[in-house]
Amino acid sequence: MSTPNTELAIILRNHGFSRTKQRHIVFNLLLNREPMTINELYKHADKQLDRASIYRTVALFEELGIVSRITIGWKYKIELSDIFTEHHHHLSCRMCHAIIPINKDELEQFIARLAKENHFTPLEHQVEIQGYCQSCADKQTVAN
Ligand SMILES: [Zn+2]
Ligand SMILES: [Zn+2]
Repeated sequence: MSTPNTELAIILRNHGFSRTKQRHIVFNLLLNREPMTINELYKHADKQLDRASIYRTVALFEELGIVSRITIGWKYKIELSDIFTEHHHHLSCRMCHAIIPINKDELEQFIARLAKENHFTPLEHQVEIQGYCQSCADKQTVAN
């Protein structure tokens, strides 16, 4: 099996893009990490990249299916796509913006069955649950 960095190089090359230093940095910031906002990526990049190049790189990565966007309220976070991570979904907290990955065979089987029952050939799907994490829900109860 090829390494994530080789896989990245192949995807970029297949689309006529080279593996520049900034693409390499953004990719490695996301590798094996929690989903991040553009701002968090910028902070982690530690002045190696400016915001504009992070935006550009993330936009290209989204277009090429290298990363996916998780929307929480009016914000979004970026994570590596299913090519690089195990297929999963998220519970996202609207208050503290925590993202909890969920991975359930029952959910996948249910989605496959739904598609089949409707004579539909599924290619991909997104399941996102937005709400409050335990600690934010507790805080709200206290505040009220
Ligand atoms: Zn929370
Ligand atoms: Zn799924």
